[in-house]
Amino acid sequence: MKDIATPKRTKDILERHGFRFKKSLGQNFLIDPNVLANIVDAAGVTEETGVIEVGPGIGALTEQSARKAKNVLAFEIDQRLLPILNETMAPYPHVSVVNEDVLKADLHKRISESFAPGQDLAVIANLPYYVTTPILMKLLEEKLPVRVMVVMMQLEVAERIAASPGSKAYGSLSIAAQYYAHTETVFTVPRTVFMPPPNVDSAILRLTRREKPPVDVADEALFFELVRASFVQRRKTLLNNLSKHFQDKLSKQETAEALQRIGIDGARRAETLMMKEFAALTSTFFRI
Ligand code: SAM
Repeated sequence: MKDIATPKRTKDILERHGFRFKKSLGQNFLIDPNVLANIVDAAGVTEETGVIEVGPGIGALTEQSARKAKNVLAFEIDQRLLPILNETMAPYPHVSVVNEDVLKADLHKRISESFAPGQDLAVIANLPYYVTTPILMKLLEEKLPVRVMVVMMQLEVAERIAASPGSKAYGSLSIAAQYYAHTETVFTVPRTVFMPPPNVDSAILRLTRREKPPVDVADEALFFELVRASFVQRRKTLLNNLSKHFQDKLSKQETAEALQRIGIDGARRAETLMMKEFAALTSTFFRI
């Protein structure tokens, strides 16, 4: 069967349905079947796997998942795409499309309705760039029973997610993602494989869920609060950022003493701290 994603077929489908791209919904459709097949391969999909997709568009990636997976559940916010998907997904009865904003969806409920308990699950998506981070954070924070996520995003965001301490790209997003998952960039993708081409290059990131977080934290909410507070002004020292954050509760001196107790130099910048040091910060401030 001819792939949906060939430039010619994509054009035909869009023209026949009179579809116009909405930039505000991050609609850049993939028109390279090889790139799509590589995305699905990177997720290790077998005939037992259930795939969750965010934003199927006209079904280019959905089709590639459907050829390998047991079943596919796709969330599409744009109802204009539903009649198109109805047509393009007709050969794949094991694909269900829901017309829902994934950010508002009850994902645990949807998953339990669509997949068998304990089924191998993968998220495979070419994410809309305007909401990449909120979507990823929702998928991670809700602790869904998903083995792996293979997601296309803006290269610069992928670099921030997979960054190591000491690098410019390292920040609260890196720590949040790496707390929940092993992260790796699988390959980069030029803008020419999209219709219409976006203004930036892209990357495929693989996030493999960790069985347990890499550090023990006294309180998860406080851990993430401290991480965010430490990076509020990247150029400022840890002591300055944290004493500002705790100004209603602690004097600067008390914050400095808390850092000294765990042997962290307050003159350092947050970007030099490893995750285990943020965990140590959490234990100290948890007790105050
Ligand atoms: N998967 C298709 C492909 O690779 O060609 C389309 C990817 S396109 C980058 C992003 C898709 O996400 C669009 O179809 C858009 O309508 C949809 N979308 C945008 N925001 C969404 C949201 N909050 N929830 C669900 N779908 C969304």
